[in-house]
This record gives sequence, structure tokens and C-alpha cells, in this order.
Amino acid sequence: MSAPVPPVRGSTVRGALEAALASAPEPGLTAKDLSSMVGISEKDVADHLAHLEKSLKAQGLRLEVLPASCIQCGFSFKDRKRFTRPGACPECRSTRIDPPAFRVTS
Ligand SMILES: [Zn+2]
Repeated sequence: MSAPVPPVRGSTVRGALEAALASAPEPGLTAKDLSSMVGISEKDVADHLAHLEKSLKAQGLRLEVLPASCIQCGFSFKDRKRFTRPGACPECRSTRIDPPAFRVTS
């Protein structure tokens, strides 16, 4: 694909999400961060991220997921494919989970 990448638009929710993620700091942005930045619920953020991942791929970009981890024992949810925050740690059953963070990389 050699078509030029269109400029990021801030006028749609997904465009706003993409713009936020493209300028995300090193540790990425959580669904909670994105929810307050864009003004939609955390659940909607997860839905949009699933679609955004596909459209980013088409532009040669990548949605990087920094996995959730357990605050209690340090377990990393790195094999998790969903964008929502895990409910509990499979290792120690703690519900104190550091949520996943996201950013866009090329
Ligand atoms: Zn744990």
C-alpha cells in the first residue's frame, strides 16, 4: 500500500483516541486515561481499541499493549488479548490489578 496516510482527525471518537495514543507518553495510556480524555466509558474505549487496532495495522502502525500486572505478586497478563482490565490475578487471586496501557507505535 503506497497511499498517503491521512492526517489524524480529532472530530470522531476513534480519531480522538488515535490522536491521544499517538502522542501517549512512554508508559502508555490506560482505558481510564483514555476514557476521561475522549469522554466515553472505559468499556467503549475497549471496543474502540479493538477496531482501532485493525485500522492502525492497515496504516502500517501498531497498537502496543503494555500488559496489566498484579500489584500483589507481579504476575503479568501478557498473553491477554482483550483490552479490558482483568478482574483478578490467576496466581494469587488478588483483585488489585494495575490495568493495561496502550500506545501507538510504528
Ligand atoms: Zn497476583
